[in-house]
Amino acid sequence: PRLANQIAAGEVVERPASVIKELLENSLDSSARRIDIEVEQGGVKLLRVRDDGNGIPAEDLPLALARHATSKIRDLSDLEQVLSLGFRGEALASISSVSRLTLTSRTVEASEAWQVETEGRDMHSRIQPAAHPVGTSVEVRDLFFNTPARRKFLRTEKTEFDHLQEVVRRLALARFDVGFNLRHNGKSVLALREATDEAGRARRVGAVCGPAFLEQALPVDVERSGVRLWGWVGLPTFSRSQADLQYFFVNGRAVRDKLVAHAVRQAYRDVLFNGRHPTFVLFLEVDPAAVDVNVHPTKHEVRFRDSRMVHDFLYGTLHRALADVRP
Ligand code: ADP
Ligand code: MG
Repeated sequence: PRLANQIAAGEVVERPASVIKELLENSLDSSARRIDIEVEQGGVKLLRVRDDGNGIPAEDLPLALARHATSKIRDLSDLEQVLSLGFRGEALASISSVSRLTLTSRTVEASEAWQVETEGRDMHSRIQPAAHPVGTSVEVRDLFFNTPARRKFLRTEKTEFDHLQEVVRRLALARFDVGFNLRHNGKSVLALREATDEAGRARRVGAVCGPAFLEQALPVDVERSGVRLWGWVGLPTFSRSQADLQYFFVNGRAVRDKLVAHAVRQAYRDVLFNGRHPTFVLFLEVDPAAVDVNVHPTKHEVRFRDSRMVHDFLYGTLHRALADVRP
């Protein structure tokens, strides 16, 4: 089964960024309010995610590392939803098969924390008491230490960390209600307190996207027939070397979508900002029944029931906002 895990790991675990994504999603699933991430050498040497979520009961700890061991399927309708998301209950098993992994956790009912360790395909899985507050820590060391072929595909430390940081940024924008701390090689890179009001959210956008973006960005907040679009649009005069400041969330989920990109680009173009690269952090809130976010589990695509309406609403809102400030 460990070999099967390693094969599955090829799908789930491509690089440190894909590990961090799975670990952060687990922390968020466990109702964490604060997540601390410690990274060394771009995540190849060490990735540690500590949360203050619900924790894992001691008897479930070894199970959490086993394949298809999700605790998140409760009934058949759940199962269907889970299946549509692709592999489930495989992330920890896969990650542990290509690293040295330590899982430490404590539930609120438990008087102490418990810990299991694994090393690649050799499941040591000693379970022992440990010191840890309520919540969970997953420590992943020496990623791909036992799969040299995969390790060869890793890029430089900086590139790997850039990818990893992008995952954290996207989730930090999706979850203003959770605090995130990210450290790389002992230095703080992001320190985001939970943001509960407008000022706090703006502060977070400034920290994640850079103060220069926030300073010039146009705040947007428009609601029409039950659809709300809010966030920040960068003015076309804002130039940023990193071309990819485009964050779009549908009902709290990060989405990269052709229809959305098209509507924004067209609004820019029609206000005579020809050829400018749009920058934005935008949140669309719609009736969940009007959108299918699980079209593809990893590609961040969406399908709107009334895509024409969404496109026109986006275009119209942004066009009006931009036209107001046209130089
Ligand atoms: P999945 O998230 O699809 O269920 P994973 O392999 O990512 O599968 O995790 C396996 C199980 O381990 C989860 O279902 C959950 O019960 C438990 N788990 C993992 N990480 C955490 C965490 N940070 N807090 C609480 N439970 C966790
Ligand atoms: Mg998971």
